[in-house]
Amino acid sequence: MKLRSYVGGAWYEASEGFVRVLSAVDGRAVALVSSQGLDTQRVLDYARKTGGPALRALTFHQRAELIKALALHLDQRKERFYEVAYDTGATRKDNFVDIDGGIMTLFAFSSKARRELPDARVAVDGALEPLSKGGTFAARHIMTPLRGAAVHINAYNFPAWGMLEKLAPALIAGVPAIVKPATQTAYVAYAVFEEIIASGILPEGSVQFIAGGIGDLLDRLTGQDVVSFTGSAQTAAKLQSTPAIARNSVRFIAEQDSLNAAILGPDVRVEDPEFELFVREVAREITTKAGQRCTCIRRAIVPRGMMDAVQRALTARLEKSVLGNPRSEGVTMGALVSQGQRDDVLAAIAQLTGEAQIVYGDPSAAPNVVDGDARAGAYMAPVVLRCERPLDSQRVHTVEAFGPVTTLMAYDTLDEAIEIANRGEGSLVASVFSYDAPAADALVLGIAPFHGRVLVVDRDDAKEQTGHGTPLAPLVHGGPGRAGGGEEMGGIRGVFHYMQRTAVQGTPQRLATVSGVWNPGASETTIAGHPFEHSFEDLTVGETYYTDSREITIADIERFAEFTGDSFYAHMDEAAAKASPFFEGRVAHGYLVLAFAAGLFVRSELGPVLANYGLENLRFLKPVYPGDAIRVRLTVKEKTPRKPEYGEVRWSVTVFNQQDEVAATYDLLTMNATAAHVPALEVV
Ligand code: NDP
Repeated sequence: MKLRSYVGGAWYEASEGFVRVLSAVDGRAVALVSSQGLDTQRVLDYARKTGGPALRALTFHQRAELIKALALHLDQRKERFYEVAYDTGATRKDNFVDIDGGIMTLFAFSSKARRELPDARVAVDGALEPLSKGGTFAARHIMTPLRGAAVHINAYNFPAWGMLEKLAPALIAGVPAIVKPATQTAYVAYAVFEEIIASGILPEGSVQFIAGGIGDLLDRLTGQDVVSFTGSAQTAAKLQSTPAIARNSVRFIAEQDSLNAAILGPDVRVEDPEFELFVREVAREITTKAGQRCTCIRRAIVPRGMMDAVQRALTARLEKSVLGNPRSEGVTMGALVSQGQRDDVLAAIAQLTGEAQIVYGDPSAAPNVVDGDARAGAYMAPVVLRCERPLDSQRVHTVEAFGPVTTLMAYDTLDEAIEIANRGEGSLVASVFSYDAPAADALVLGIAPFHGRVLVVDRDDAKEQTGHGTPLAPLVHGGPGRAGGGEEMGGIRGVFHYMQRTAVQGTPQRLATVSGVWNPGASETTIAGHPFEHSFEDLTVGETYYTDSREITIADIERFAEFTGDSFYAHMDEAAAKASPFFEGRVAHGYLVLAFAAGLFVRSELGPVLANYGLENLRFLKPVYPGDAIRVRLTVKEKTPRKPEYGEVRWSVTVFNQQDEVAATYDLLTMNATAAHVPALEVV
């Protein structure tokens, strides 16, 4: 099958320069890949001039809806992707991680974006920063989509997930993407991409696909473009040194090979649950995807006295793995992606054996393969090495055997365990298996600066923990140093990688109109009638309501204390209250102020306000004393649609005393019915 590229709104088929991709299972040719003759400037122009404007015309929520629709579309067609993906050597379970994992990532990003981003084209980052005494000058950080293209260069090991986890945040940000899959498994990415185009869900120009090399595309990038790369450290270094990338400060997000570690705590004995959990995780890591995961545990760090026990238990477990044709039932471990990859792994093992001994597996022997052809396929049985002196060794921390390979490393003290893990000089993830709180805490804090993610497993989270090798959409994926220094995903952080953060300074009014979020000092319009009479659509940002005022008496305070049981001395004891540096005498409860404030602005009739959803950013700024009178200003700060039936309204609430001093501020969140769904009492 000749793979085509999708560029400039049409499929492009090269006529020469093809690379033949062979099946990892039986050596059959499964794809011909070439992009020769492709006009890379046209690809970039199409993204910048057609895809970008189309995406930027939509709000975050509209883009997130498209991502959800796409996830549903792909989910209904995934069996086809599974069928194609077996030839990469991956089992059905492995492909679940790639295919279902990719689709789930789309769903996760869509949902996060609709919950955490506004239904707008601009997002704000952080709170308003007041910059003047008179209140006429302030600042806000806003996020706007870059005007260029996102160039996604993916590794061979996760052709579907790698593509989708990068696409979701870029498209939600409003930046069009150009996907370049790794040649070796491009046919899987192609099958998924064909469906993306066939669905017609995404705006024209928002995604393009290059099957084969990207030629001089990187030379044409500007500071408005972003490169997100996954693959080897060597390729990352090469691409990052492209003159245009350095010259134009092109954002380059790199996620590259790393020598991830799992540490068995010094407290763990053979009979402890953490021992079994550790062994199971290491075995699972090196057999899943035949160990070709960027997160795979390459270094299993073990107390010296436990090395023999771990070796015995791990090898017993690996004995149970069944290597063979990934399509066959009962096979638990498939092939490497290619014979070339297997040669690379064998060469890496040869380098490691100078510092560690092989204690399980024989890389020189032909593996036993169930229902497959050991000569034509790229099969390789697991290999475990053992290193007694990891702190006196180099290569065990630098050479990545990207296959079913791990090295057991002995340590004597906690500090040594930390130092060994950190010798990887930056990794994507490390796991800690310990039930000893001080040891686990020390390990986590000791290794955190060198890792993008740290998983702590013990008997209490054993059943629900998501695993060492599983990057999750809400969590950061990426690590410092050798791991590339980049970050992907991490929820909305991943979306912001494709946006520019700008500190805008000006009047509160300017900041409110630019950001779409009302802030104190910006103009207020008087709301018609009562604020709780209005449906979601009826409310406009900036609409304000001032309540009547209400005096708070000592009797109120005493009644509140008696009713709630809150008899904190500052409310009940004049002398004790005066002893606090904050009070001149007895003060009203903060909760009383909140409750009375609500009493001033709520409405008792059934209406569009469906529920109080919570308070945020609450601050009590001035004590309210008996005899003070409070009144409330309620302003529509932001509106976020949630469902067709209702949306969230964020009200800026300010409680003033009789001198117009601010006693309290907070954001109140209400769920407001849309006009068509305002509840009414049934008339009997
Ligand atoms: P590579 O670094 O070789 O390739 C990664 C991506 O970069 C591929 O899409 C590749 O395309 C592309 N690429 C390579 N050269 C260029 C270039 N000059 N210009 C533009 N794009 C380029 O990684 P592989 O996926 O082939 O894996 C090789 C090794 O990388 C593995 O053995 C493993 O050690 C490591 N690896 C690490 C991963 C991690 O995340 N930790 C993940 C996957 C691999 P093409 O395929 O067309 O060459």
